Amino acid sequence: MPVAMSPHLSPESPSRADSVWRGATLVTMQDGHYNLTENGAIAVSDGKIVWTGTAAECPDFADAVQHEFNGGIITPGFIDCHTHLVFGGDRSGEFEQRLNGVSYADIAAAGGGILSTVNATREASEEELLKQALFRLQPLLAEGVTCVEIKSGYGLSIESELKMLRVIRRLGSMLQAEVKSTCLAAHALPPEYKGRADDYISLICETLLPQVASENLADAVDAFCEHLAFSPEQVERVFTAAQALGLPVKLHAEQLSSLHGSAMAARHHALSADHLEYATAEDAQAMAASGTVAVLLPGAYYLLRETQCPPVEEFRKYQVPMALASDANPGTSPALSLRLMLNMGCTLFRLTPEEALAGITCHGARALGLQETHGTLEVGKVADFIHWPLSRPAELVYWLGGQLPCTVVYRGEVRGEFRS
Ligand SMILES: [Zn+2]
Repeated sequence: MPVAMSPHLSPESPSRADSVWRGATLVTMQDGHYNLTENGAIAVSDGKIVWTGTAAECPDFADAVQHEFNGGIITPGFIDCHTHLVFGGDRSGEFEQRLNGVSYADIAAAGGGILSTVNATREASEEELLKQALFRLQPLLAEGVTCVEIKSGYGLSIESELKMLRVIRRLGSMLQAEVKSTCLAAHALPPEYKGRADDYISLICETLLPQVASENLADAVDAFCEHLAFSPEQVERVFTAAQALGLPVKLHAEQLSSLHGSAMAARHHALSADHLEYATAEDAQAMAASGTVAVLLPGAYYLLRETQCPPVEEFRKYQVPMALASDANPGTSPALSLRLMLNMGCTLFRLTPEEALAGITCHGARALGLQETHGTLEVGKVADFIHWPLSRPAELVYWLGGQLPCTVVYRGEVRGEFRS
């Protein structure tokens, strides 16, 4: 297929830049591959990349601030495309109880499980939710996350879902990171709607989503399609309502059983289908046809001690882009490190280190609909990148935990932890 030449791919060099960064190997991640440029240079203007190539070929850019690295590698900023970082309380007490031999059933009977998070989230003020989310975001930002998606889904009422989404938007205005907001009201059935799931779906479609759209509180709409949550038919109602309001959709699908939610999501041209341990070859084919990204979440697989891996071979065969994310949430994946997810994606799901890194850069961007602006070191993209004093990109995957020193550049400026 012929590709139209976009104006920012012009071979002519820009005449000026605000800053130039050189002296490290560029791991550009173009087309999902390392695409290394040894002894590379990046020129930035107005927060965007205006030139990349080898330092030897770099134009003069006499007015630009010059930054010289003494070796190492530069990767795109990390993208965590699936998190539930805003919630009240935590479930470390339950975690300990289970390991002390208390059963899931007894914990649930005592008000534990997701309902305990729903209650704590409903009771918390916006300020409390904000403070707790900032605490959890800090380690992710420190290891180079420059873009993070956060879902609602622990309010499960109009008022509490809107509260969560407002907190997510406030985080976006406070942080030196791009924050994408997703409405996941169809996460679980609220206790008030026990036995009336269809009525709750109607509330989401007819009352909540129109308000979310009119206040611009979400960039996408998500749902949990599973026997213990919502059926494909119920989710389809949510998707139809979301798309009528111009909101793109994504789905938690095939985590614990095969309902072919991912194929249904693909029919709706979903940005992504996430989890996918029980997805089939037909699901993968449908996702490939619609460009739906497979978001793999090894943290939940690990914590639940699952044994069924997502069908990575099928995703490769049909060329479904694979993203990786933390799924940071209080119940099944209290994961505060995307680099740990890189390692788990490789050791548990057998991704290659190159696939894993693509999963938190260019394919993570695609899972959020940001593939034109984020996820690679290319001219025209935002100047979000990380310098690591490492010899090769596989080291990012290889070291297990710990924090590696790095310099994070956000929109062309070295980033402090928080803006205020
Ligand atoms: Zn999730």
